[in-house]
Amino acid sequence: MKSSIVIGAGMVGLSTAWHLQEHGVEVTVIDQGGVAAGSSWGNAGWLTPGMTMPLADTSVWTYGPGSLVNPNAPLHVPFRPDPKLWEFFARFVSHGTQKAWDRTMSALTPIDRVALDAFDELTGNGVDAWTREGPFVVGFEKEKQVGGFIEELKHVAAHGQEVPLERLSDPRSLVPQLSDSLEAVYRLDGQRFIEPGPFVRALGDAVRERGATFAFGLPVTSVEVAGKPTVTTAHGQRYTADSVVIATGAWLPRLARRFGVRTLVEAGRGYSFTVASEPPIEYPVYFPSRRIACTPYQGRFRIAGTMEFRGPDEPLQAGRIDSIIRTSRGLFTGLDLDARENEWVGSRPVTPDGLPLIGATNTPGVFVAGGHGMWGIVLGPATGRFLAEQMLTGRVAPEIVPFNPLR
Ligand SMILES: Cc1cc2nc3c(=O)[nH]c(=O)nc-3n(C[C@H](O)[C@H](O)[C@H](O)COP(=O)(O)OP(=O)(O)OC[C@H]3O[C@@H](n4cnc5c(N)ncnc54)[C@H](O)[C@@H]3O)c2cc1C
Repeated sequence: MKSSIVIGAGMVGLSTAWHLQEHGVEVTVIDQGGVAAGSSWGNAGWLTPGMTMPLADTSVWTYGPGSLVNPNAPLHVPFRPDPKLWEFFARFVSHGTQKAWDRTMSALTPIDRVALDAFDELTGNGVDAWTREGPFVVGFEKEKQVGGFIEELKHVAAHGQEVPLERLSDPRSLVPQLSDSLEAVYRLDGQRFIEPGPFVRALGDAVRERGATFAFGLPVTSVEVAGKPTVTTAHGQRYTADSVVIATGAWLPRLARRFGVRTLVEAGRGYSFTVASEPPIEYPVYFPSRRIACTPYQGRFRIAGTMEFRGPDEPLQAGRIDSIIRTSRGLFTGLDLDARENEWVGSRPVTPDGLPLIGATNTPGVFVAGGHGMWGIVLGPATGRFLAEQMLTGRVAPEIVPFNPLR
């Protein structure tokens, strides 16, 4: 295989492009926008394999139908007649059992364990960006919320990852802006974070410097295979190569479905914004029961949260940002939440079973990489490594066997 077209210039597509180049493949990257035009931009940037766990857990049952239509709930499904969305959601909720959680966690653990190493591989070989150690500060408004989180981490540890968690007696020495009404605060070690937009941009720069052709502003409308795969864009350009990788995030089913990829992928949209913090906050902060994830970003503090099931092209819903602000007011002091910048919505590519789709389709030469849901940043580089290996050698690494896109 000498040439490949990667559709999608997010973390997953660009990591795959980089690894294809490692194997000597000539790569063309096509995106309807540009580098990190999708959910790889304004996300929380957490490289937390120890928290890369199934999204559907037993708590999905406690949300109840009322909170699904409540715009302030952390998980929001607008009530509309969309049979595909409700089918997705029924399947998603059916995975909210301990048994399904364990099955998914055991499938994710092998790739979780190599995730950070895959970042070091990129930054040690020309990707000009940093990854930074935590600690991650984990806060709870009520003591009774702690047990569920600790229980989850125990399960992660039982599956084979180290997740050192320690209670803090003086959490404000790490993050002075934490509200003193929090009843319990912990530190989680062994995890890292990045500034996702700048990291993916640096990855894009490396891929381009290594000789890739970038074709941006071009929505791909079809992938045809008659002999070699050919990709056609909305503006009529056609690109042909020995292989195609569909890495289009929450848009993945539009191109991948006809190649036998039947797993539903829905846009689980999350929102973020940044605020100033004085002194600057140095560590990521997580509030598990509020599903709020915060990260230092370019001298400011990014606050991210919510999961809203709407189409990936729908406009930002200001009400979701309001809901994050209302929640955050009780968690911090001294942050001016009204002086926000970088308001952003992005679409997590969510699958009902919580597993990504990585590998060959039913058509020779056509591959997919996506569906990582909450964890496409931390798992992106390892995804690229294993997919490129499969494409070039035919070997399917055990780490990606459970992610067969034809399951
Ligand atoms: C609020 C929030 C916080 C998050 N926090 C974290 C975190 O802390 N850690 C973590 O690991 N993950 C996190 N995630 C999830 C992570 O952002 C995603 O899983 C990841 O970005 C998916 O990467 P991707 O490359 O698959 O998709 P994307 O980044 O969405 O890239 C897909 C690309 O495909 C392009 N595209 C789509 N269709 C077409 C087409 N037809 N033609 C051409 N181009 C097309 C798009 O323009 C886009 O650039 C978060 C997500 C959100 C929303």
